[in-house]
Amino acid sequence: MSERDLLMIPGPVEFDPEVMRALGARTLSHLDPVFIATFGRALQRLREVCLAPSAQPFIVAGTGTLAMELAVANLVEPGDRALVVNTGHFSDRMALILARHGAEVTQVRPPLGEAPRPQEVEQALAQGAYRVMTVTHVDTSTGVRAPAEPLVRAAHRHGVLSVVDGVCATAGETFHQDAWGADVYLTGSQKALGVPPGLALLTVSPKALSAWRARKHPVRSFYADWAEWLPIMEAYEAGKPAYFATPAVNLITALEVSLGQILREGMEPRFARHRRMARAFRAAWRALGLRPLPTTEAATANTLSALYYPEGVDSSVVGRVRGEGVVLAGGLHPELKTRYFRVGHMNLVGPGEVLATVGAVERALGAAGHRVQPGGAVSAAQAALLEPVPAAD
Ligand code: PMP
Repeated sequence: MSERDLLMIPGPVEFDPEVMRALGARTLSHLDPVFIATFGRALQRLREVCLAPSAQPFIVAGTGTLAMELAVANLVEPGDRALVVNTGHFSDRMALILARHGAEVTQVRPPLGEAPRPQEVEQALAQGAYRVMTVTHVDTSTGVRAPAEPLVRAAHRHGVLSVVDGVCATAGETFHQDAWGADVYLTGSQKALGVPPGLALLTVSPKALSAWRARKHPVRSFYADWAEWLPIMEAYEAGKPAYFATPAVNLITALEVSLGQILREGMEPRFARHRRMARAFRAAWRALGLRPLPTTEAATANTLSALYYPEGVDSSVVGRVRGEGVVLAGGLHPELKTRYFRVGHMNLVGPGEVLATVGAVERALGAAGHRVQPGGAVSAAQAALLEPVPAAD
């Protein structure tokens, strides 16, 4: 990949130079007062980005998968019932993690590409004494966005803890953790949060912490046990040094910078920017005759596009787009892997990236033999960018 290529996969994404400078700065002691203050601010800012003033943030070295396990290992005991709202590969992964920790898993599984219907989830919640319900806010394998708010509110009504996987959504898709009553919002650093891969992050509601404190058995993982991490997070936020396992000093320093940038942009303007760029991409895909994997606009994520290859075009078109200077991702869901490709649009993505990406896809499809009207998709994206920002998803 050339240094001037545009990385437009659904994570990792393009990162801001100031964030990269923080990552490349001299590594401080994890007990240095400057780092202690940085870590403390990162925790406070994570709470603000998740719109979760009452939640306990955790920042742990690892990836999004560890964030999933940090939620499950602490909230689930063997024999507990768990409801998985399944919208793709990462919901499948959540079901595997739950089963590994001894949960009895039931799934609500709409057909691939469809969003789960809140009434159906509500019915499932009414039928079993569930301990947790998990939702993948945006499943990166399908590009489907679940209606997180009604699902989380339904779990709340049924006294079930809600765990929302925000790895491909946090700081890109509207999410109000406290207002909606979500118990755990978990994520990774490498997507809309704007930091290279390597951090697992979660914000945990007071209710989920109480449920964890009332466990009958100790957590069966050493590294994932909140009992080890909670005192560390509390100490750093109080400006005091503490040690359990060496924090990822440079990644946390970079996170503090990125979260600061995100909060300066403002959460609602940031969500609106992601909405606006996604709408421009959708207009371009329509102009190119590309069919999205999500079956309705409401089920379509603002953070990535998942698109079927058109008739007569195969996965080699991704290589052609790369030749045009834009890096895209192939398919991921095992059932459809070779039939679709994905375009990430998170973090810094603005009109320039939209037009460059659409132009590259248009040229590559034309070269691959797909009928395109030169400039047609670019013009459709531009027209969408000139329209007022939609007020809601
Ligand atoms: N959940 C979702 C929705 C994801 O998109 C991903 C990563 N693509 C993960 C979980 C796992 O994250 P990681 O690859 O950082 O372990």
